[in-house]
Amino acid sequence: MRVVACLSCYALLHCSRSRSAALAFVQRPLEPAAGARAWKHAHYASADPSDCRVKVIYDESHTRHAARSDHSECPARATVAADLLQGVAGIGMVAPAAASGDADALDKVMRALHRVHKDWYIEDIAAMSRRGGGNVDFDTYVTKDTYDVCVRATSAWLDAVDSAVTHGTPAFALTRPPGHHATPMAAMGFCFFNFAGAAAMYALDELGLERVALLDFDVHFGNGVAAVARQDARLRYCSLHEAGSFPFTGTEELAGGPHKNLRQLEVQPQYFGGGKGTWAESYEKRFKEEALPWLVEFDPQLLIVSAGYDALEADPLATLTMQPENYREIAQLLRGAFGNKVVFGLEGGYAVEETACAIHMTLQPFLEP
Ligand SMILES: [Zn+2]
Repeated sequence: MRVVACLSCYALLHCSRSRSAALAFVQRPLEPAAGARAWKHAHYASADPSDCRVKVIYDESHTRHAARSDHSECPARATVAADLLQGVAGIGMVAPAAASGDADALDKVMRALHRVHKDWYIEDIAAMSRRGGGNVDFDTYVTKDTYDVCVRATSAWLDAVDSAVTHGTPAFALTRPPGHHATPMAAMGFCFFNFAGAAAMYALDELGLERVALLDFDVHFGNGVAAVARQDARLRYCSLHEAGSFPFTGTEELAGGPHKNLRQLEVQPQYFGGGKGTWAESYEKRFKEEALPWLVEFDPQLLIVSAGYDALEADPLATLTMQPENYREIAQLLRGAFGNKVVFGLEGGYAVEETACAIHMTLQPFLEP
């Protein structure tokens, strides 16, 4: 077992699955006709959710969505974080409701997905998995289990909403693949189903909320979540992302939408010379003065955060220079503004250990009384 320290808080990270080890784990022979009922991860489902300040929704079925070759969007992104979080006092780690094969939970997931995606699109992804997988584009891959993994991930995001709304317990859906680039009719950028959008529509249409805010601090613009939000005035979406990065549609001029409920804040990367991409020099001001007040003004009954950690300096896919502790500052401000009615879900973040630390930092303010 490898033991490293969380870079920001020095909590020990008992990491028995390095990135390469995780890949080896998922490249073992696949179980025949693996289905939701076949996977058991009691280790992660043993926490008592009634005795926690923050709920983390997680199970290891996501490891079945893995490329046959090295890929940034790899299982270790979530397994390393799970290894860290399971030892943190105050965190209750539970499996998503759909992991048990519960019919009601699966129905809830399908209703949520059909609210944001076209019927034929959902079936296309399912059919592609049934055929054994393939590639949607050069870096968005499908395995025979991708559809099932995404169903469970959707369930995790819905469970997180239930936790925050019904029980007042903030929650983190520790899921992959990410979802915020998935549009109603297209997979892209490693994403297939729009979990944040589905969670928001679930909160509105099934839990009866009237206003849900969406914050996206992934380094990339969440074009898929924006596409959902622009259709519904009950949503307000704000993204902070690196200027000029994938999917190249998040410019500030294109924000707004018919309901004026989209805000797209670009942070200049180092090489543009307009800022240095750090929390202190560019990100903090935009977050405190533009993103946060605009979301607070909406007076939402729930905040759903597309929590991507690829703005970290260590991340290989972007050039901003955020540090893990900066996410504690963001989370502290979110808790002050929205209390415990906050849900996070993992989007990007490809520096595996730094992402795990940043997730821990994100949850710390919510672990305090
Ligand atoms: Zn990203």
